[in-house]
Amino acid sequence: MSSLDPRAPLVLDTRELGRRPGSQRELELSVPAPAELGIEVLSVPEGSPVELDLRLEAVMEGVLLTGTATAALEGECVRCLEPIEDEIHVTLQELYVYPDQHDKAAEHDDRDLDDETSQLEDDLLDLEPLLRDAVVLALPFQPLCMDDCPGLCTECGARLADDPDHAHDAPIDPRWAGLQQLKQDTQD
Ligand SMILES: [Zn+2]
Ligand SMILES: [Zn+2]
Repeated sequence: MSSLDPRAPLVLDTRELGRRPGSQRELELSVPAPAELGIEVLSVPEGSPVELDLRLEAVMEGVLLTGTATAALEGECVRCLEPIEDEIHVTLQELYVYPDQHDKAAEHDDRDLDDETSQLEDDLLDLEPLLRDAVVLALPFQPLCMDDCPGLCTECGARLADDPDHAHDAPIDPRWAGLQQLKQDTQD
């Protein structure tokens, strides 16, 4: 595992909890969103603020993180391609296990814990994977500008929500176009 950079905005230092179960710390911070936070059609713009409201609590096995994250979303409707601006609010909860506790747990357990547990490294925890998972899970698979977006006209590509009575006349048969012209001339 590569070591964490203590200056990275989503790496938090838990040292001051002192590994004393019960000690806790509340944190309110705003961090710039990492790249590709979200899904292709809807995501938190890179560098835009992610507001975090967190509580770190030392427990026997490690540090329990709970809290919320709020951020702006930008994307586009999958039906009509209209830009979407929204806000996302997710709850976060994760137990970051002390490395020695992790090894102990692994001895008693055949499962590969590396895949399932988050670990503290030198009393640092990495919030980014947790934030990513929470945001992706909270996003709709197919973002829409409104629940019943009618999409685009298959004939001309107009956005049907802007023009609900949208209709196309049957194309004029070129053989009749001349006659129509004639009729207009006689009327004049
Ligand atoms: Zn739409
Ligand atoms: Zn049309």
